[in-house]
Amino acid sequence: MTAIEYAVFRILRLFRKLPFNVLGIGNQKVIFTEYFKDFEKVDAVKGIFGEKTGEVLSHLKVELSWIFGYMYVDGSDGHLVISKGYLNTGNKTDIYLDLIHELCHVKQFLDGRELFDPRYDYVDRPTEIEAYRYAVQEARRLGLSEDRICLYLRTEWMGEGDFRRLAKSVNVLIR
Ligand SMILES: [Zn+2]
Repeated sequence: MTAIEYAVFRILRLFRKLPFNVLGIGNQKVIFTEYFKDFEKVDAVKGIFGEKTGEVLSHLKVELSWIFGYMYVDGSDGHLVISKGYLNTGNKTDIYLDLIHELCHVKQFLDGRELFDPRYDYVDRPTEIEAYRYAVQEARRLGLSEDRICLYLRTEWMGEGDFRRLAKSVNVLIR
């Protein structure tokens, strides 16, 4: 098993509880630690919340939703909203990195920061750049190639110019 295979294998273990009744009608609210296993032991997560990691994750509400798309932090109360479709069919490494990204936003929310500051475009917003930088750092630690990280950063709703700006902000080389 190569280092990267081992890293991905370890990520897959974090999703052991998937799927449970994930196709149920309506949105379900669960607690983060009930659904995602051992995230409180992941160094990247401990790097976000420090000593409060277990406490924050055991209180963090997760809404499993039929929204189209990926996941986001609700700016009203800081809970995490995740698309059921994405959880069911998305690439697990991408989902893991998205969770790391969103947990950065949870921390920002807890620190009283504005997550959706309308003065900035999405790719220029300081809270986004910070969360993307942290996710990219974790992707590199896992051993993902720059091309694979580019693939992760590129989303279908992001224009080419925005994608390039974001990649530059987080120091990812586009080839
Ligand atoms: Zn974000």
